[in-house]
Amino acid sequence: MKGICILGATGSIGVSTLDVVARHPDLYKVVALTANGNIDVLFQQCLVHHPEYAVVASEHRADEFRQRIAASTVADIKVLSGSEALQQVATLDTVDSVMAAIVGAAGLLPTLAAAKAGKTILLANKEALVMSGQIFLKAVKDSGAVLLPIDSEHNAIFQCMPAGYATGQQARQARRILLTASGGPFRRTPVEELINVTPEQAIAHPKWDMGRKISVDSATMMNKGLELIEACLLFNMQPDDIQVVIHPQSIIHSMVDYVDGSVLAQMGNPDMRTPIAYAMAWPERFDSGVAPLNIFEVGRMDFEQPDLQRFPCLKLAYQAIKSGGVMPTILNAANEVAVEAFLAEQIRFTDIAKIIEQSMAQFSAEQADTLEAVLQADQQARDIAKTVITHLAV
Ligand code: NAD
Ligand code: MG
Repeated sequence: MKGICILGATGSIGVSTLDVVARHPDLYKVVALTANGNIDVLFQQCLVHHPEYAVVASEHRADEFRQRIAASTVADIKVLSGSEALQQVATLDTVDSVMAAIVGAAGLLPTLAAAKAGKTILLANKEALVMSGQIFLKAVKDSGAVLLPIDSEHNAIFQCMPAGYATGQQARQARRILLTASGGPFRRTPVEELINVTPEQAIAHPKWDMGRKISVDSATMMNKGLELIEACLLFNMQPDDIQVVIHPQSIIHSMVDYVDGSVLAQMGNPDMRTPIAYAMAWPERFDSGVAPLNIFEVGRMDFEQPDLQRFPCLKLAYQAIKSGGVMPTILNAANEVAVEAFLAEQIRFTDIAKIIEQSMAQFSAEQADTLEAVLQADQQARDIAKTVITHLAV
């Protein structure tokens, strides 16, 4: 029986994780659930899954949540609040696995704490890895933690790696990764119309049902840019050995090209419960609740090169990983600020790439060897991106 802590339990990945957990009550016990401010969903999850701990990261909703738990049938749940509590529950002795499913940089410290504590980390929160890079991988290595990718592409690549492969290693006979992308909702939209895209249009993804931030990232293809960096780190590959492939049907979730010419692909319906269940059962497999793939319904699969004019964010991500140092941190931070401004209707869709590019231009690619340096670069990039936005607005 394994204890699981779900960071970001109320989000899209968190909810899918609980769906898988509920199918395997003999194998998993929910030890801790965390949310930012969505206390209604967290409360329902507490009633169903009865964790030992529930964390409300946002302080101003915590008291109300505490009162609701106290008056409920699950009044023995320990309620904690604030961002420090996330690290506390991610490192509990009773926790074996930590699902890192907080969105954005807010997930870094608890995920890193879990890594240092030697937990099995089910990593959905790609921003945490992108911003901290080698620091994160070193923490995993030093503690003997196990790092399993949840992002569907990286989970697919991991599944296609040789037996016994561990993340961070170089798989010598694997010469290339083919990283698939759906192309998002604007793959065919005339480029000159992208300036008028609304948040509602951007978050309506054709194949995946996800949180708002990652949905916008998919529409700009910054999601693939972050995933490119994520893949370089997880699989110890050079950016030029990773080919982004637009595959609109989203049935192949990525491929590994071996030196003998074999190309291994992992396929399945686009449902995050498959990679979640794979990582939870690893190195075994168990039921995820996902329907079997109907290959006749799929019918055909298409593949295209991404257009970097249409998707400048992808080009910026290649630049960031090639420059190295703090650049991936800067890219990620500026993107988070820009996406938030876009969702708040303060900027246009096409401004997102401009803000990131202008923010990156203000930094040189110096090394960031310490967590403090990473956090400082992250904060500076956020401040700069906000200044860029004020100049855009006038
Ligand atoms: P979401 O917006 O649906 O959920 C985010 C979760 O994080 C919520 O539980 C929220 O309460 C919590 N959260 C947000 N801000 C927080 C803060 N400041 N402090 C503490 N908690 C906070 O997002 P999602 O779609 O579930 O994505 C989560 C992560 O997984 C992202 O990094 C995303 O890139 C990655 N991912 C998601 C999918 C998907 O299908 N949704 C696929 C691959 C990777
Ligand atoms: Mg993905």
